[in-house]
Amino acid sequence: MQTFNPEQMMAKDRREFGEHGGVAPSISRSSTFTVMEPGTMPEIFQGEKGPDQGGCFLYSRHFNPTVDVLSRYLAAMEGTESAICTASGMSAISCTILQLCHSGDHVIASDTIYGGSHALFAELLPQMNIHTTFVDITDTAAVAAAFTENTRVVYTEAFGNPTLRVADIPSLTELAHQKGASLVVDNTFSPAIISPAMLGADVVVHSMTKFINGASDVIAGAICASRDFVLQLMDLHTGRVLLLGPTMDPRAAFDIIQRLPHLPIRMREHSRRAMAMAEFLQETGAAITYPGLPSFSQHALAGQLINEGYGFGGILTLDCGNGEKANRLMGILQNEENFGYIAVSLGYFDTLMSCSSSSTSSEIPEAEQMRMGLSPGLLRISMGLTGSLNERLDQMKRAVEKAGLD
Ligand code: PLP
Repeated sequence: MQTFNPEQMMAKDRREFGEHGGVAPSISRSSTFTVMEPGTMPEIFQGEKGPDQGGCFLYSRHFNPTVDVLSRYLAAMEGTESAICTASGMSAISCTILQLCHSGDHVIASDTIYGGSHALFAELLPQMNIHTTFVDITDTAAVAAAFTENTRVVYTEAFGNPTLRVADIPSLTELAHQKGASLVVDNTFSPAIISPAMLGADVVVHSMTKFINGASDVIAGAICASRDFVLQLMDLHTGRVLLLGPTMDPRAAFDIIQRLPHLPIRMREHSRRAMAMAEFLQETGAAITYPGLPSFSQHALAGQLINEGYGFGGILTLDCGNGEKANRLMGILQNEENFGYIAVSLGYFDTLMSCSSSSTSSEIPEAEQMRMGLSPGLLRISMGLTGSLNERLDQMKRAVEKAGLD
């Protein structure tokens, strides 16, 4: 278990007040910013007086004061020097990869990642002559064998979507660095729980759409990395975030700023409930996957990587055997038991359920899905925080019986 305390780090960095002494920060919605002296403008453009140098803001696609506050809190949470927020998780991932890789470069990616990320590596990036080898990220020998002289990035999710495979971040860092490559980790499933940068990762990306925002009402992303990398992403000539333009709206930033302080409390509760549900389902003999269960094949590794006190995360999977049974169970859980919603996404305060193979992983060809252990009946459950836990366990018990899964 790690001793890094993301909660303490974030609290230490909270020093933002609103106008008139507001305890909530103000939203700075201006798209452009004025300067006192005309001579200051060229200096900002020449990279001499930007906000990052204690100078002036220029234009909100570059830096924005409210978005900057959120970026600072995220850097504190992940233990990185700096961070930059983006309009979505996908833009955080694509801008990071495009900044690190040029035409002719090579990526090694985990074969069990979010379907959109898989499509980016398997279908879009090859059109730019950036090619990816997909590997079982838990097989260190396979990762080592996949390097070519052009490998620039090793890409993985901390807990893989939806198989929950755990990436051995310290070992992957060592391998990547030996070969001069960067390790990029998507930490969407495990904010506060795992701190990839503290374990060696070079860049940590997030879909803040999920747990970090926690209310399923904002699409947002973040890139946490060194100050140098963030400045590269914002470079006036080649910065992928600045020039491709996935700018975060300051209003979205404000919403997330106000929810970030209770993220650690929420993660503890998501974990507590997911653990209880996993234990309960395991007792019924169900095919359950949850990193907190001692029966989980990588339980010991997960235990080494997590920060103390936040549990093993809010996501579990239940293999119902086939798609038909999974759909039957979801239908009963939503429409008869009021247990949660049939919806993609995760990290909401209510429970969300989806059948990954036909939804968020459907971009991945069937044969590859089978290889990565994603069966058509695999139900991904993002355990919410609402209702009493005992009531949720009862609802699940009845639904499993009614669906004929027991
Ligand atoms: N990374 C993971 C692990 C995801 O599950 C998702 C979306 O489901 C994304 C990235 C993409 O995030 P967004 O929808 O915010 O672009």
